Amino acid sequence: MRAGIAGQAGRRNWSGPRGVPAGVHMCYATIHQRAAAHPWNARRGLTIWSEMSDIAIQDLPGPNATMRECPECGLFQAVPAMRPGQIAECNRCGALLRRRRRDALGTTLAFSVTGLVLFALAATGPLLGLRVAGQQRDTTLIALPGAFETQGLWELAIVVLAFTLLAPLLKLGLTAGVLIGLRLDTAPSTLAAMERWRKHLTPWAMIEVFLLGAFVAYTRLSAMAEVQVGVALYVLGALMLTVVATDAWLDEHALWEAIGRRRRTPAPMGDGPLIGCDSCGRVGRGKPGAPCRRCNAPLRVRKPNSIARSWALLAAAAVLYIPANLYPILTLIRFGRGHPSTIIGGVQELIEYRMWPLALLVFGASVLVPVLKLLSLAVLLISTQRHAAKRLKDRTRLYRIVDAVGRWSMIDVFMLAVLVALVRMGLLASVIPGVGAVCFAAVVILTMLAAFSFDPRLMWDAAGQTGCDAAKAEA
Ligand SMILES: [Zn+2]
Ligand SMILES: [Zn+2]
Repeated sequence: MRAGIAGQAGRRNWSGPRGVPAGVHMCYATIHQRAAAHPWNARRGLTIWSEMSDIAIQDLPGPNATMRECPECGLFQAVPAMRPGQIAECNRCGALLRRRRRDALGTTLAFSVTGLVLFALAATGPLLGLRVAGQQRDTTLIALPGAFETQGLWELAIVVLAFTLLAPLLKLGLTAGVLIGLRLDTAPSTLAAMERWRKHLTPWAMIEVFLLGAFVAYTRLSAMAEVQVGVALYVLGALMLTVVATDAWLDEHALWEAIGRRRRTPAPMGDGPLIGCDSCGRVGRGKPGAPCRRCNAPLRVRKPNSIARSWALLAAAAVLYIPANLYPILTLIRFGRGHPSTIIGGVQELIEYRMWPLALLVFGASVLVPVLKLLSLAVLLISTQRHAAKRLKDRTRLYRIVDAVGRWSMIDVFMLAVLVALVRMGLLASVIPGVGAVCFAAVVILTMLAAFSFDPRLMWDAAGQTGCDAAKAEA
């Protein structure tokens, strides 16, 4: 498939990893001009020159332009210098390549430090309180994993600990750490590794999903008992907004350029084909397997064994999906009698209480999303293996959606964590987690891993689409 791209390098629209042949037309990213047009600022031109020293600079549009490989379709294209507020999209598939922000790094640092302070308050403060027949129970975020552990479901204890405490904390800490490191006189040599880890952890930090799960738990409980909302739940809401702002404001492109500028030894000239780094986005000459000269991640043309790995993870998820729905995810004990409830049973219960919006939300997140995700990934994999050339843009868009929505299926698991930690009053009222919840959490994690393993660029490779006008010709 790679040979297919390289073989097309002589076409009118250059896009192949072999480089820019003289006189060949260059692909340009689409820039959405939100801010007023402004002449390119040449002040930082020199640094970009040294970063991009092994690319045919005369072909780049303007002094601050950089070369990027689209992470979703693999098209190499020039991204010109951008004004704050502007957005660069892939010329061919429409993937977001860069969102330029005013003082992106300073604002992100402020948001991430605020997030760390809020996190400390949200993790330790009272989350929810429950009063049943004169008995009072309170819970905190930090106590949730322990509640699963005491019920013997250590797998769920790890899931809750990792996704609601460790990943969000590490992600915020690494964001602040990298941005503070860049401001020091001598930048620590670990900046690139820290930023790589921040990116890996991002999809697993699920504060916003947890908040929705806690809301569902609150609504279900308030139908049968007196529930008090603790201050930590409000702080968690503020934390969620801060995390969203941190993600929205972080200009990874600017961050990596800043890290590249702080390297103590300048990157030497490379040889080999043009290759885009998966990790930092730097496009340069290098051989697959060699370390990226900006972030040290091993260079690779495509994700290794993408199709086989995605199929394996998808098959495992599909198998586990059956027990996840057949076995109860929880058993509610009230006045000594147990009522086991499956995922669908939980939705039915919400309908019985006439909580329609919530029933729709839980049905969407716990039933619809996992099924659609399994089917969509199977369609993407089969169409790639069959070298399908139709609807490439739509399939890339489908991949983007599958990649983004999968984590929201964790709502039920987090709802369960809150219920288990809060409703433990012996025979009077208790919630015992069921094995169905373990299978369901595994399904969500496996489908997320399957989506990460799939390389959407393979769809475009398999269809033999390489030029920047390919999608337009197809449309
Ligand atoms: Zn693209
Ligand atoms: Zn890199």
